[in-house]
Order: sequence, then C-alpha cells, then structure tokens
Amino acid sequence: MNTLTPAQVAKGALRRLATAKLEPTPENYARAYAEESGQPLPPAVDARSQGPAWASLIEKLVKGIERGSKQWTPARKKESLQRVLDGSRGDLQRLQQRLQALVGSWDGERQPDDPDAPADAGLTAPAPLDEAPAATAPVPADEAATDWLPVVASLEGTVRAGLPAEEPRAVELADHLAQLADAIAAEGLSPQRVAEVDELCQRARRLFSHRHHLIEQLGSLCRELSRGLVEVAEDDSWARGQCESLEQRLADGVTARSVRAASELLAETRSRQQRVRDERNAARDALKSLIHRMLAEVGELGEHTGRFHESVGRHAEAVASAESLESLAGVVREIVDESRAVQELVGAAQRRMQDEHAKASELETRVRELETELRRLSEEVSTDALTQVANRRGLAQAFEAERARVDRAGPEAPPLAIALIDIDNFKKLNDTLGHAAGDLALKSLAAAVRERLRPVDHLARFGGEEFVVLLPATPLAEAQQALTRLQRGLTEALFLHEQREVFVTFSAGVTAWRTGEALETALERADEALYEAKRSGKNRTCIA
Ligand code: GH3
Ligand code: MG
Ligand code: MG
Repeated sequence: MNTLTPAQVAKGALRRLATAKLEPTPENYARAYAEESGQPLPPAVDARSQGPAWASLIEKLVKGIERGSKQWTPARKKESLQRVLDGSRGDLQRLQQRLQALVGSWDGERQPDDPDAPADAGLTAPAPLDEAPAATAPVPADEAATDWLPVVASLEGTVRAGLPAEEPRAVELADHLAQLADAIAAEGLSPQRVAEVDELCQRARRLFSHRHHLIEQLGSLCRELSRGLVEVAEDDSWARGQCESLEQRLADGVTARSVRAASELLAETRSRQQRVRDERNAARDALKSLIHRMLAEVGELGEHTGRFHESVGRHAEAVASAESLESLAGVVREIVDESRAVQELVGAAQRRMQDEHAKASELETRVRELETELRRLSEEVSTDALTQVANRRGLAQAFEAERARVDRAGPEAPPLAIALIDIDNFKKLNDTLGHAAGDLALKSLAAAVRERLRPVDHLARFGGEEFVVLLPATPLAEAQQALTRLQRGLTEALFLHEQREVFVTFSAGVTAWRTGEALETALERADEALYEAKRSGKNRTCIA
C-alpha cells in the first residue's frame, strides 16, 4: 500500500526522469509516475467511457462559476476557464485534468480527496505539460497546482490587505499574484512559476519594509511636532505637560493611540491658542477703556485745577486792588475754601487710584496663587476636576491595586476585564450646543456610568471624552454584557440644554487583562475593539 500523497508521487516521478536523464514526454512521465506510485501503468483512456465523469465535471464547473468568492470572482473564474480551454483543446485527457484542477482550486480543495468527484476515477495518472522545456520540468497541474493555488491566492490577499488600496505598486503586485494564481491553475506549477512567486514576494518585502520606514518617519514627525509645540504654545506649562506625556507614549513605539493622541494634542493646542488670543484681545480692550477713564479723571482734575489757577489769578488781582481788610479777608476765605475743595478732589482721586491699584495687585497675587495651586493639584490629585471620577493617576493606582489582588490570588485568579469608552459624535455636540454643554455631557455621563457600575468597578477619565472601566473578577463576555447594559441605560435623555433633552451614546471596546502585561498594552487592545465598534455603527461594545 503506497502512503505517498499524489504530490509526493509526482515529485518522485520527476526525480526519476531527471536521474534517468529522460525527456519529460507524456509517455515517460506516465511510466515514471506509475513506477513511483507502485501502480501498474494505467490503461489507455477510452473517451466514450468518460461520459459520467465529464457530466459531473461540467456540473461542477457551472456551479463553481455561479458561486463567486472574494478571491475568485465569476469574471476571474471565466477568464481562467478560457485559458484552460485555449491551452488544452487538442488533448481530451489533459483538458479534463486541468478542468478538475481548476474546479478544485475554486473550492480551495485537493481534488483527489474529493469523495464527490467520480471524474477522478479515470484520471489517476497525471499528464505532464508537454510544451514546457526539459530544464523546467513542470509539476502536473491537477495535484501540485491545487496545493499551491491557495498559497498564492492567500499571498495576494495578504498583499491587498497589508498595503493601502491607493498605493499603485501594491495593486500592481496583487494583480500579478492573481495572474500567477490563474496561470498555475491553468498550466500547473513549474520552476519558472516558483521563481516568479519568489520574485513577487521579494517585491512585497521591499514594499512592506518601505511602509515600515514611512511609519518610523511619521513617528519622528509626531515627536518633532510635539516638541515644537512647547515653543509655539502661549500656555507654556500646559503644553509642556501634554508634550511630555505624549513623548512618553511615543517612546514605547508608534501606535494608533499615540498618533491619535498627537493629532488630538495639536487640535487642542490650536483651540487653546485661539482662546488665549481671544482673552488677550479682551484684556487689551479693557486696558484701553481703563486708560480712557483715567484720562477723563485727569481731565476733570485739570479742569478743577485750571479753574483754581484762573481764580488764583482773579484772587491775586482782587488782593492787589483790595482796599479794606474786610475785602482782603473775604478774598482769602474764598482762596482757602477753593484750595480746600481742590485738595479734597485731588485727595479723593488719589485714594480711588490707590484703591484700584491695590485691588489689581491683590487680584494678580490671587491669580498667581491659583495658578500654582492648580498646577500642584493637577500633578498630585488623582481625581478629574470636571467629572469627579479618577484621572489617569487614579486609574494607575486602581490598576496597581487590582494587579496586586490578581497576583495574590495566584493562577486561579478571577479575570480582570478592562473597557475603553469613547463618546459618540462628541465634536458635533460641542459644535452645536457649545463647549459648556460638552462639559456638562462629560459630567453627566460619568455620573450615569458610575451610578450603574458595581461598587468594586473603577471608572476613570482617560482623556478628553474617553473613559476607562476596570471590572474585577469579570469574564470577558460578562464585561461586554455589562457595557451593553450601560449603553441601553442611556436611552433616556442625559441632561437638559435650554429646556431641550440631550441624548448621548458611547462606543466601547473590552478586553481581558493578561497576567503580567502593562495597562497600556491591554488598552491598546481595547482600543482596537473600540475602533471596530465605531466602524460598525457606534453605540455598541466589541471585544478583543
Ligand atoms: P466619534 O464618535 O468617532 O468618537 O466622534 P467624536 O466627535 O467624538 O470624535 P473625536 O474623538 O475626534 O472628538 C472628540 C472631541 O471632544 C474633540 C474635543 O474638542 C472634545 N473634547 C475633548 N475634551 C473635552 C472637554 O473636556 N470638554 C469638552 N466640552 N469637549 C472636549
Ligand atoms: Mg475620542
Ligand atoms: Mg468620540
């Protein structure tokens, strides 16, 4: 009993021919194949007895063409069928074998193992490809070609999936692989075809490594941009903090999350710059009106002192022409009264100005104190100021506690699930209802989620409108159900804006924490699931 596969027998037959230095004619090959397989030479095939085999083959061809697939579109199937017909018209047996191979490759099956293939009965001895030169003796089409076809088709799929559809060299490469798969289906595998596959693989490697290079360059562009931000940002301390955290994330390698964080940072910096510019314009306008007021005050004073100056002149004249002590006393009284009034006026103006100056410096000191306090708080506190749930620092602490609990519990530790939540269409909410309503949405959502979680679960604000939930002792499927329940719980309005109900939904990605891995690694996985949830329609939870 021969246990070799048909492909091994075919290779052995070729080896026999090469060792015996025989031409790979159809007769020589059929003999070598029979010797290799230990079978007697097959009887000459009688075309008239082949009726049922042909009928079954045609049936399969028709069904096969109708049944389209991703790799094999009906058009591609028809094209390869035409090639087989054109190449084997003159040889009935060979035509039958190649058609068998072709149908097999459409199904992704190896034909000889197909129990529903009665046509195989008369086709056990494969026919060689007589037009191929001896130096590149072909492997018969029906066996090895069907073995190889899925490999080439899968290479084609990999190239198409791995490189962008708009990259012309990638498309060209995938098209070449598709043509090669067709050629192998129609004509069988030969050393020349193998060399072609190898050459195409090398081209694919070059393209992939070029893409890697591109990603590295994008990474260094992100790093340069984030460093440059500190120099251009007006709010220096904020930008510095953000850039440092971004640099840390980029240092671990360029990931979808870190690149997105970089572009969010750029957008947020732009809007902060705009806010700072607006504030500066408002301050400039306030200063202008202050100067106007001071000018008016000085003008008023000038008016009084001017009038005083005039009356001093008048009084001097009156003094010079005073003839009696009484009239002189009257003038002096008038002078004293007037000078006292001016003195009071000047004094009052001075006091007012001093008051305002004191108030301004008091406010300035307070603002400086508040800024320092804010910086200290944001560095030390583990609660997010807006939503009152944990911030990144709080999340890190909660995660460490859960990790320690799992470590203590040993190999039988109940699983820790980690979910990443991102509000749907939040930018639109900000744009239509305003930033303050956006902030209220964040607060209300955090409160609504917190209220519906178990006491042992942790909720943290991870960034702008992203939250992380840690679900201790929760298998992945249960965690997904919990998040889906949360989403259903938000079918009521979240809050009122100008007496109108506002509805908010979110998408989520959930993953099971793997012992020993960093939180960021698990979040990267959760982010992939979140991305899938967004892509497949939002307001849903996917798992990774
Ligand atoms: P998607 O459904 O794909 O998530 O769409 P989206 O609009 O939510 O997309 P994206 O994540 O790009 O937008 C997030 C927006 O959230 C951008 C930013 O202006 C806003 N945002 C981030 N932090 C805050 C905040 O603290 N308050 C407010 N009001 N808005 C914020
Ligand atoms: Mg987002
Ligand atoms: Mg969003």
